[in-house]
Amino acid sequence: HSLKNTRRAADNEPLLRFREAKKVLGDVYGELKENVGELEAVYKDIKENDFVSAEQRAEVEAIRDSIKTIMDTFQRDNMKVVFFGRTSNGKSTTINAMLHEKVLPQGMGHTTCCFLQVEGSEEEVGHLQLDDNPQRIDMQMLGKIGHALSDENSDLPAMGQDSLLRVFHPKQTNSEECRLLQNDVVILDSPGVDLSPEFDSWIDKHCLDADVFVLVSNAESTLTQAEKNFFLRVAKKLSKPNVFILNNRWDASAAETENIEEVKKQHLTRFRHFLVDELDVCSEREVNDRIFFVSSREVLESRLKARGLVQKAYQAEGHGTRALEFQNFERHFEQCISRSAIHTKFEAHNRRAHEMIGKMRLNLNSVLTSAADQRSKLQNSLNESTRVFNECRVNFTQFEQAYREQTERLRAEVHLKVSAD
Ligand code: GDP
Repeated sequence: HSLKNTRRAADNEPLLRFREAKKVLGDVYGELKENVGELEAVYKDIKENDFVSAEQRAEVEAIRDSIKTIMDTFQRDNMKVVFFGRTSNGKSTTINAMLHEKVLPQGMGHTTCCFLQVEGSEEEVGHLQLDDNPQRIDMQMLGKIGHALSDENSDLPAMGQDSLLRVFHPKQTNSEECRLLQNDVVILDSPGVDLSPEFDSWIDKHCLDADVFVLVSNAESTLTQAEKNFFLRVAKKLSKPNVFILNNRWDASAAETENIEEVKKQHLTRFRHFLVDELDVCSEREVNDRIFFVSSREVLESRLKARGLVQKAYQAEGHGTRALEFQNFERHFEQCISRSAIHTKFEAHNRRAHEMIGKMRLNLNSVLTSAADQRSKLQNSLNESTRVFNECRVNFTQFEQAYREQTERLRAEVHLKVSAD
């Protein structure tokens, strides 16, 4: 049992790293917030405030506000993966296999005529939302919503291909099956690339913050120009995007093709060339961990069976190798998405924290400098007063001495006169 737990913890590791990074950063910002608050209070308390300028006070207030904004933002930060490919290549099936559950409708080239974003929800019952619209839609609508969205008589607002339907799926605490959603992974299913896509608006609206792209290709055919074009645009807009290629339906190819190893080699050569030379998104060494030959349908069905959700799972000959390949993909995917999200999202917050600490140091230094200036001015004027006072005292002593001598003399003269009389 404990071995299973250890293995589970190890399996979970890359995704957990993101959460850890989030926690560490939360602690750093929490302490920063306390320090800034303390400084603000000290500045407020200084009544004789010649040496804390209005500018310095305003800067501390601005830092306090930025800290709050950043803390709100990174609580919402997540790891994002976009699935992409032609209709019916198996994008929804792959996503469902990774979630160990039929979350998205699949088959019949269904209705993914808009973007579907699956994210974890703390609630027990899932629901849908149209983009930022807070109105909740019943989960039951998911299968029909594509039609509904394009139906003029629908109650739902008209939505374009680049619009977003958010699927809030319960995280089901303690369930290994939902570990992607539990660990802040957000999954985006895109409309089929064959549906005359407007790539630029897709990319601008949904992909700029993506950590990983998964191209689900159909192992029975080669990449189309539309599939290539999308990634060429992505690679132009994002620097070195992380791209995985899944040759899905490998079960069907394996069953129908005699010289399967030859076919696999051909696919590999083409995909390597695409990723390394055309897109220039990874090196010759990395590319081996980016291309996988899988059957999402087999994996999904065996996972559903393992959970007792179906009686029989579809499995063709050689399924064991394909299942391992799928797990291998998941391992590399988790490492990649976690590394990328920590790098891009937290690096930026970390840099901001450094900047703010630097600003606070300068702010404090200049207050200390003007305090030291004032102290030396005060010291100078104190020294001057002491000198004048000393001078006065010397003068006074001299005067006292002279006075005493004079009175002595006077007294002696008076005494002489009196004696003479
Ligand atoms: P999408 O349009 O890209 O989201 O594709 P779907 O996931 O809806 O899949 C389209 C059809 O292909 C469905 O009927 C799936 O059952 C089937 N399919 C998906 N993956 C595989 C696979 O690996 N092997 C086989 N044989 N069928 C698959």
